[in-house]
Amino acid sequence: MHLEKINFPNANLEKFGWNSFFASQQTAGIAGRVASVDREGFVVWTEAGEVYCEASGALRNAAALWPAVGDWVMLREDGPVIEKVLERSTKLSRKRPERDMREQVLAANIDVLFIVSGLDRDYNPRRLERYLVMARESGARPVILLNKADLAEEMGLNLDEVVSATRAIAGEAKVLPMSARIEQGIDAIEAELKPGETAAMIGSSGVGKSTILNRLLGSERQQTQSVRDGDNRGRHTTTTRELFLMPGGWLLIDMPGIREIQLWAAADGLDDSFEDIRELAASCRFRDCSHKGEPGCAVENAGLDEARLENYKKMQRELAHLERKANPVLAKETRAKWNATEKSVRKNDKRNR
Ligand code: GDP
Repeated sequence: MHLEKINFPNANLEKFGWNSFFASQQTAGIAGRVASVDREGFVVWTEAGEVYCEASGALRNAAALWPAVGDWVMLREDGPVIEKVLERSTKLSRKRPERDMREQVLAANIDVLFIVSGLDRDYNPRRLERYLVMARESGARPVILLNKADLAEEMGLNLDEVVSATRAIAGEAKVLPMSARIEQGIDAIEAELKPGETAAMIGSSGVGKSTILNRLLGSERQQTQSVRDGDNRGRHTTTTRELFLMPGGWLLIDMPGIREIQLWAAADGLDDSFEDIRELAASCRFRDCSHKGEPGCAVENAGLDEARLENYKKMQRELAHLERKANPVLAKETRAKWNATEKSVRKNDKRNR
């Protein structure tokens, strides 16, 4: 098999994020990590170098896992073919755009998800809530980056107020104000990761993701990225999501150009993100309360932010619709689970009164 030389000094799998979880699943062949995906194939980093691969026939035909950026895979010994995708520790998913009722894994095996928002016209708490649901469903730890802090004043925003309003919706997720332009807060991003850990970065176009990536890579951009001087396959087509090895020894998956963020099977993520509302809803007097002015409605009386409540309901409707269409069995289970938790919370609530 022809391996391109990677310009990483002393490359080993641990440097790319390999650990005992993946080692325990290793089978015959060569282990590697998917560094980018394009229409025709996959760039995979192995200990011996970088190789451009295709997926095996078995992967194409079966309901097996399809490789996504960040995945650990086993390659055939004798050719650039991915035979198997190892079980993921985490996965960031969305519903495929348009009418397609299928899951799309945007990134696999990430420890931290940086959700980037610009403190300009982009700032939108409802969109942040949606990203937080996605992140919590993924299993990765969300961290919100409020970029373009240098513009806040000009935009008529009080930075402290925006930061505390964002913290109020972020729950346990960290909120880091920063400015890639004036290089403020870059250290705080780096402090979130240990060597060998993987982060991904998501946010609307124009929020500053590439600028942040360049700041993080600093002057090492040339040295940390692979040099492909062989056949150059894979470089002609634009790769959408790409893994980078950072100077601090951690890895970052850049995800530019994600326009639609429709949820995929994110009932747990939604529950985790809106625990306050869910618990209030459970203590309502009526099972089918629409929380719209019914007498004694716990949600209405709690003085919640109406837009936040609306956003919760909207995502709940979206998930219910998706599950009805895509997976009726799962839809039934989710409804049963929601009903059961609401019932038990209601019981506890009565006991505590
Ligand atoms: P991306 O689409 O998310 O990758 O965004 P880019 O990195 O391409 O940035 C979009 C625009 O925002 C560019 O003109 C950047 O120079 C600008 N930009 C990025 N970060 C900052 C920042 O911290 N402050 C200001 N004022 N502009 C920024």
